[in-house]
Amino acid sequence: MVAPMDQTLAPGLYIVATPIGNLGDISMRASAVLGAVAAVACEDTRVTGKLMQHIGRKVRLIRYDDHASDATRDHLLALAAEQPVALVSDAGTPLISDPGYKLVRAARDMGIAVTSIPGPSAAIVALTLAGLPSDRFLFAGFLPAKAKARAEVLAELAPVKATLVFYETAPRLADALAAIGEVLPGREVAVARELTKLYEECRSGSPEDLIAHYAAHPPKGEIVLVVGPPGETETSAEDADALLIEALKTLKASQAAAEVARATGLDRKALYARALELK
Ligand code: SAM
Repeated sequence: MVAPMDQTLAPGLYIVATPIGNLGDISMRASAVLGAVAAVACEDTRVTGKLMQHIGRKVRLIRYDDHASDATRDHLLALAAEQPVALVSDAGTPLISDPGYKLVRAARDMGIAVTSIPGPSAAIVALTLAGLPSDRFLFAGFLPAKAKARAEVLAELAPVKATLVFYETAPRLADALAAIGEVLPGREVAVARELTKLYEECRSGSPEDLIAHYAAHPPKGEIVLVVGPPGETETSAEDADALLIEALKTLKASQAAAEVARATGLDRKALYARALELK
């Protein structure tokens, strides 16, 4: 496939979203821009090379990630000051759990024009499939691999009144679901897998149901986890007091407030004030 039209682009940095598994999802504008830039900064030249082959363009590819040397970044910035330069990642939207923010920041600081050619991002595709509230969501990238750090991140996110979106890998899915079941009890979860690909699936349920399903059918491929917001049912003041009184038997006021906030979604500061009164 060739770009719809040849065009001359102004110098600057073009952030270009690319498909997350289905090459047909490359947009006409993304194709046109990738065909017209002087160079494409990318994570893996082989992956981006295949995409360029698909759109029938041959452009200089320069390996780049946020750990790249200052010299590589400076080189890209010097190029982008004079010519159009694209930034892509291996899949999806650059900067979304992918490299780019340091480059964009530096380009903006230097007065280089930065523009974004939007397209697929797995987080948004998953959110559109999960059947969970989508008016407010919090994208939290990858959960930490270590159990303690993972539980801490989930505890921090527990009071957030929004749907939560995480990137995950198949080997860590069961551990992530177990941690969600423990730290965010009662939440509905959707496992969105292999999005836009042949074996796309989006399976919803409790963490416990999903753990059982994936124990019987080991998951493959790429995964997004979508976790519903804390329950809509309001916890009454009496119920909150009862939970606080119980928690205060073994915990300090601050810890009791944090625990009840996690379980109910109520405001931790208000619970702390109430815990001090109840003590
Ligand atoms: N920048 C990308 C985006 O906009 O979606 C995300 C890059 S991040 C390094 C890779 C993670 O995105 C994967 O581990 C997986 O969690 C998620 N992901 C990417 N493609 C996916 C797909 N087709 N189906 C499900 N998840 C996907």
